[in-house]
Amino acid sequence: MARRRMVYEGKAKILYEGPEPGTLIQYFKDDATAGNGAKKDVVEGKGVLNNRISEHVMTGLNAIGVPTHFIRRLNMREQLVRAVEMIPLEIVVRNVAAGSLSTRLGIEEGTPLPRPIIEFYLKDDALGDPMVTEEHIIAFNWAAQQDIDDIISLALRVNDFMSGMMMGVGIRLIDFKIEIGRHWEGDFHRLVIADEISPDSCRLWDVKSGDKLDKDVFRRDLGSIADTYSEVAQRLGIMPRPGERTEGKRGPKLVH
Ligand code: 5GP
Repeated sequence: MARRRMVYEGKAKILYEGPEPGTLIQYFKDDATAGNGAKKDVVEGKGVLNNRISEHVMTGLNAIGVPTHFIRRLNMREQLVRAVEMIPLEIVVRNVAAGSLSTRLGIEEGTPLPRPIIEFYLKDDALGDPMVTEEHIIAFNWAAQQDIDDIISLALRVNDFMSGMMMGVGIRLIDFKIEIGRHWEGDFHRLVIADEISPDSCRLWDVKSGDKLDKDVFRRDLGSIADTYSEVAQRLGIMPRPGERTEGKRGPKLVH
C-alpha cells in the first residue's frame, strides 16, 4: 500500500488523508500530555481505549441527530471521519466546579453549578489556550454570532446526552471539552462535533466513591490511566471485563 499522507499531527492524534475526497483517517496515539505538553508519557493502550470510547459517544450522538464528523471505526486505533474546517475554539461545558474554574474563581471542587456553564478557549498552544468571550470570537472572526448560538445548542445537547449515558453506568459527568468543525456541502456548511470525546477530554467521577475516572488521574499522578480508561470502557459495555464471556453480548444490558 502506498504511504499515506499525513495531514496533521497533534499531541494525542494524527490525521491522514482518507480513502475518498472529504474524508480523513483519525489515528489515536498512546501519547499522554498534560499542562500544554509540560508533562508527557506514553500509556500503552490509551489510543485503543480512546478510539473505542470516542466511537461509542459519537455513534450515540449521530443516532440522536447531533451531527458529528465520525463515519466509522476502521481498526483498533483508527476511525474514518469527515474532513471539516475546524473552528479554532475549545468549548468547555461544566456541570460541577473543578479544574481551572475552581482555581480561577476559588470555588471548591465538587460544588454543583446552578446550571451548565459554557466557556470558550482559543485553541493556541503557544498562548496556552486562553479563555475568550463571544466578543473576541466575533471581533476576530473565529465564528459568527449564529455559529456561536449553534455551538451553544450543540454543546448543551452533548451535555444532556453524555450526562445520561454516564449516569447510567454510575459516572457523574463533571465537565468536558469539545471541538467543532464546519462541514461544507457546496456553498453551505453545518456545524458538527469533531476531534474526540473521551476520558482525555472529560472529567468523570464515580457516583458513589467520587473517584476520578479521567485524565486527572494522569495530570495529578493518581494511578494508572490505562486501568482507569479501561474501567470506563467496561462500564459502558464497550470492552469486556477480564474473564467475561463476549459471545452474544452487545453493549450494556437493562437490569430489572
Ligand atoms: P479545565 O479548564 O478545568 O482545565 O478543563 C475543563 C475540561 O475541559 C476538562 O474536562 C478537561 O479535560 C477539558 N480540557 C480543557 N482543555 C483541554 C485540552 O487542551 N485538551 C483536552 N484533551 N481536554 C481539555
